Amino acid sequence: MKRLSLFMAISALLVAPIPAVLTQTPAKSDLVLLNGNFITMNPQQPTAEAVAIKGGRIEWVGSTADARKLFAGASATSDLGGATVLPGIIDAHGHLINLGESFLKLDLKGVDTPQEVARLVKEKANTVRTGEWILGWGWDEGKWAANYPTHELLTEAAPTNPVFLTGLHGFAGWANKRALLIAGITKATRDPENGKIIRDEKTGEASGVLINRAQELVTSHVTPLDLDSVKIALELAARECLRNGLTSVGEARVTPIMLQAFREMVKKGRLPLRVYAMLDGSNSALIDEWLSRGPEVDPNHRLTIRCIKVFADGALGSRGAALFEPYSDAPETKGLITTPESDLYSLTRRALERGFQMATHAIGDAANRQVLDAYERALKQASGASSGTGPAATRTQPRLRVEHAQVLAAADIPRFAELGVIASMQPTHCTSDMPWAEKRIGSSRIKGAYAWRAVLKTGAHLPISSDFPGETLNPFYGIYAAVTRQDPQGKPEGGWYPEQRMTVQEALRGYTIEAAYAEFEEKQKGSIEKGKLADLIVISKDPTVVPPKDLLRIIVLKTFIDGKLVYSSEMPK
Ligand SMILES: [Zn+2]
Repeated sequence: MKRLSLFMAISALLVAPIPAVLTQTPAKSDLVLLNGNFITMNPQQPTAEAVAIKGGRIEWVGSTADARKLFAGASATSDLGGATVLPGIIDAHGHLINLGESFLKLDLKGVDTPQEVARLVKEKANTVRTGEWILGWGWDEGKWAANYPTHELLTEAAPTNPVFLTGLHGFAGWANKRALLIAGITKATRDPENGKIIRDEKTGEASGVLINRAQELVTSHVTPLDLDSVKIALELAARECLRNGLTSVGEARVTPIMLQAFREMVKKGRLPLRVYAMLDGSNSALIDEWLSRGPEVDPNHRLTIRCIKVFADGALGSRGAALFEPYSDAPETKGLITTPESDLYSLTRRALERGFQMATHAIGDAANRQVLDAYERALKQASGASSGTGPAATRTQPRLRVEHAQVLAAADIPRFAELGVIASMQPTHCTSDMPWAEKRIGSSRIKGAYAWRAVLKTGAHLPISSDFPGETLNPFYGIYAAVTRQDPQGKPEGGWYPEQRMTVQEALRGYTIEAAYAEFEEKQKGSIEKGKLADLIVISKDPTVVPPKDLLRIIVLKTFIDGKLVYSSEMPK
């Protein structure tokens, strides 16, 4: 006790004399960061050299010289040696569970050929028991759609094990014979609603690849992860996020078991980042339950449940995205609406009444129009209604979201800003899809595809995300894609439809303050500003000054959440 009070006395001496501006501020900060190049994302004070942190929040932002004077008694001080600091990155739309599962499954991301996949499956088959499922993830269903592989390769590689390999974006799965048998898929099996069994043209037998909901024919036979495994997967994923500078994630489809896992993790202090949970809208029991109990807004901003995720269509790569006119490279199809407008409208009405936000996946132009129409109708009804029980902010400013908003008809572009609907977009989807996207939709519709600049120009809110693990969660790849519209090799020269590029500032806004806005949290996070949560990342280069190609080389040195160091590149792995 004696030593403590002596220490306190010395601290008090060190901070004296207290300058006038600080008279009401208690003397001792938990942590002071000095000599940094802070990019604050606060337009009132865009740059700074130092911050003081207290009780998990930013207490002060200013110059190193002032910080030394004002906070000499801080519990800890760290000299950043000129390193750049950003607000913690908020990835507005990702999938922690799939990222975590990918660590537990055979990793096929970046594998170039079906033959190479088969080789990896064969290797795996040698290490598991007969009959045990071999699960993999990450083959590129967009890129391989022109010529889907068939079951034979996998059947040969693992004749006694069922194999199911999920595509990178989850819109297709590739099975071997054994898995098809377990699922009971025969020539006679009809395509399920919102799904397609790819068949051999001559025999009509399932050839091995299942599209959209047809995957469930197989996956319903795979033992699902138990609660403990879900927690392990989520924790692995969260650690990977911290390593990449992500301090908050919008989890874009939360199932009951995930919810339970998140809750238990928060309770035990094992959820190392902030999660904005979007409830799985395809689970009507889950939605009914939450609509009756109302949103849960966490006072500690760790786990917030106030959003419902629905799918209006599928993906462009697998031609599931709903278009007004047929696919340019498949004139027999226009894709598929997976939630009819009337359902979307009534769910949005209920959500608005109960204070929930809607986040609807829409890729094709027809799907986007339908979502905007349903939202517009529901918003009109809601503003006319006198009652409603949700948080006031949701009612007066519902911030309905469209996830992806990928192919837009020109007439729909201004509607986001007009209706106050958020366009939640993913720059890396553009750079991954650009080799084949124009083949799918042709030279006219492509002008409204991945059209960030056009959407931004109308004044709409545009949070950025990666949609990991389908794309890398590294936000500097996202920023690079946003500002160059080039692949990591710098192709095509000058960028793909470069008129739609963003500036670095706009991309940073998308990953910080705009993503915070999309979660109703812009007063809590998204900028380095007095009173906000002390979520910060220290990085190796200043993204606002490096040449675009060097954005890809930026690494995260330190990640702070609530003012606590949760990742350091110097930490042992
Ligand atoms: Zn997603």
